[in-house]
Amino acid sequence: MEFREVYCMNCKKVLGRYNVKFYDNTKIEELLKTTHVTHVRNGHRITIRKFVKD
Ligand SMILES: [Zn+2]
Repeated sequence: MEFREVYCMNCKKVLGRYNVKFYDNTKIEELLKTTHVTHVRNGHRITIRKFVKD
């Protein structure tokens, strides 16, 4: 299975892993504006990387 991993460079932690089947880029962007917005507001650098797990 393939996931999009949302990672905060400043907190040095994974904020969440989202299955690409259910979360497209638009959905991930929505999450950054809602669930993970505190990091964004604090100016943290968020990276989205691919995470593959069998
Ligand atoms: Zn952060």
